[in-house]
Amino acid sequence: MRNNFVIKYNSYIKRSDRNRLNNHKSGIVWFTGLSASGKSTIAHLVERELFKQSIRTYVLDGDNVRHGINSDLGFSREQRKENLRRIVEISKLFVDAGIFVLAAFISPYRDDRAYVRRHLENDNFIEVYVKCSIEECEKRDPKGQYRKARTGIIKDYTGISSPYEEPERPDLIIDTEKLSLEDSVKEIIKFLHEKSFLQ
Ligand code: ADP
Repeated sequence: MRNNFVIKYNSYIKRSDRNRLNNHKSGIVWFTGLSASGKSTIAHLVERELFKQSIRTYVLDGDNVRHGINSDLGFSREQRKENLRRIVEISKLFVDAGIFVLAAFISPYRDDRAYVRRHLENDNFIEVYVKCSIEECEKRDPKGQYRKARTGIIKDYTGISSPYEEPERPDLIIDTEKLSLEDSVKEIIKFLHEKSFLQ
């Protein structure tokens, strides 16, 4: 339900003011990839590295968000869309608040990722494709979910019973079958410097 009578309040303090106060830009690194490809692991390690550099950060993680604000949503096409729409809005608030967001979401559909990019592209946004074959992800299976998906206990599971559409033009590809965790983190930090998102 849309409320046409709500008018936005224009705050005195802008994102640019907060960035100046923090002495760093805010922005968002969006990690997409299959479950168990390494999104969360890498996002948290990048966060630790940024934190060491006195950068204010926050990891938004698919599983955590689905326990909280999106606990009312399932995994149908429509509900996955709504899941992302809310995450995009939350990310925008964080970026506006001066935080560097590390967002780890499978985000399997090209359309949905195009939506994410459209809404965040002016917010120091990069899309990182955390690449890993389904065979390797299934082997890792850190939460035992692939096994459950194979036997049908979990429905609509990405890579098994629901598609993952590979990104066509991600800003960066991190292949976790080839790169160590340490090198993955280094690549991302280097890329953020190249883009001048980090000074
Ligand atoms: P996702 O967030 O994509 O679902 P997770 O980070 O939760 O994935 O799980 C990835 C699993 O793969 C972890 O158990 C991690 O330790 C393991 N792993 C092994 N090698 C790598 C690597 N090079 N990069 C990232 N994760 C790796």
